[in-house]
Amino acid sequence: PLVLGIETSCDETGIGIVRGRTLLSNTIASSMEEHARYGGVVPEVAARAHLEALVPALTSAVAEAGITLDDLDAIAVTSGPGLSGALMVGVGAAKALAVALDKPIYAVNHLVGHVGADILDESGTPFEYPTIALLVSGGHTSLLLVRDLVGDVELLGETIDDAAGEAFDKVARLLGLAYPGGPEIDRLAALGDPKAIRFPRGLTLPKDMAKHRYDFSFSGLKTSVARWVEKQEDLGNEVPVADVAASFREAVADVLLTKAIAACVDYNVPRLLLGGGVVANARVRSLATERAAAAGVALRIPPLSLCTDNGAMIAELGAQLIMAGHAPSTLDFSADSTLPVTEIQVR
Ligand code: ATP
Ligand code: MG
Ligand code: FE
Repeated sequence: PLVLGIETSCDETGIGIVRGRTLLSNTIASSMEEHARYGGVVPEVAARAHLEALVPALTSAVAEAGITLDDLDAIAVTSGPGLSGALMVGVGAAKALAVALDKPIYAVNHLVGHVGADILDESGTPFEYPTIALLVSGGHTSLLLVRDLVGDVELLGETIDDAAGEAFDKVARLLGLAYPGGPEIDRLAALGDPKAIRFPRGLTLPKDMAKHRYDFSFSGLKTSVARWVEKQEDLGNEVPVADVAASFREAVADVLLTKAIAACVDYNVPRLLLGGGVVANARVRSLATERAAAAGVALRIPPLSLCTDNGAMIAELGAQLIMAGHAPSTLDFSADSTLPVTEIQVR
């Protein structure tokens, strides 16, 4: 089926078009720069930016795919989880298109969409299921057991405070680096010693593992970095920014991969898929490669354009639902900022 996907859950306005498993276009407009001076995504600003970016993104995605809107078999849209006001822009646009074009609509889960991105990655054969998926972005840090992309997705664990990308952004801010901080820390970390400072690995002590085996916590790590930096300043020492960045990055990557590989081993699932903007991180990638190889786990990391928020992954999840014979959503669904990952499609 020929499906158009609309993604507006955070700061990317994404319109993607797929035909079956083939990616035809994937237009992304980001309002990241507008949030820079606030040091994080501002919901009102994001929603307004989606309103402005949506029609131009739609026009260029359709042109690039070489189709007309009439050719479409269905519209797919992210209905949650995400920022309410931002989601509403995409949901409203998708409903308007569906009604005007008289096409079926599929309201889908953003996180499951990230997993669906793997199908569009042409660098190899997509994963069979079950697979473990680790989704790490500015808004999410989630570990999923995907038994069936369109039928059975289980949340094994998630962050109990800050998301991993959020931690990168906050630590970057306290080091005086620009937003978004992830890329800045990554760049500096390459010049530092990851063993210089031993920062805490959240929720990995035996007592925490009993209750939070697959959950994450990054706010303690952030506080620990802040305390360490303050102490150096109090002592009149120059802060070794590159060492702090490298040691912090190492702590985040270590926790992410320790828990993801533990899930693969515990559930006897020798496949790990990564998604989300933090996957751009060089240490997350290299440690994933090392640990997966050591554990005999196959690793898939889609290209970054499919890892960060985009419309194509939403279109693909819609296409998969159609191919599996799922009925479309009724038009009375609404955006749900806290949509659970078990709800793959909202009917
Ligand atoms: P959502 O959470 O809804 O999926 P988002 O917009 O918060 O969306 P993404 O756009 O996928 O998330 O990713 C942005 C985040 O990824 C930011 O927090 C950014 O700092 C982080 N990031 C980007 N590049 C890197 C990097 N090289 N290392 C670490 N973090 C990075
Ligand atoms: Mg984003
Ligand atoms: Fe996302």
